Amino acid sequence: MAPDIDSWLRPFKLDEHLRSHASEVLASLPPHVRADLMGDPAFTMCDYEPGPGVTYHVPVRLGAAGRGPGRAVVLKRTLRRRPPEFVRWVIAHELAHAHLRNAGRWPGDDPEHAADALAAGWGFPKPATMPWG
Ligand SMILES: [Zn+2]
Repeated sequence: MAPDIDSWLRPFKLDEHLRSHASEVLASLPPHVRADLMGDPAFTMCDYEPGPGVTYHVPVRLGAAGRGPGRAVVLKRTLRRRPPEFVRWVIAHELAHAHLRNAGRWPGDDPEHAADALAAGWGFPKPATMPWG
């Protein structure tokens, strides 16, 4: 685990298990993508325990003046019980959305397809079977 990634992740106070997966994913990102996310003081990651009636307020950091709210990646803590390759794909997919600012790679590109394509390119393909439930 790269010490700079670990110390960058620490303030987000993720669940230990999710943090170690996030660290692995971040270490695998292309340098320009990692720099885009880790160099953005308005970027934040958090996790929450989903449940019936649970609402969660995402802590969004203010972005630079005139650039709108900061980017946030929100993870469900129930991910902890999923297979590692699934957890890492979810994290990579969400980081891809953040990197693409929830847009596609080009005008008209589907943002979900774009996030999956980036995640796959970083070494985290969408698992063939999805362990929902
Ligand atoms: Zn998505």
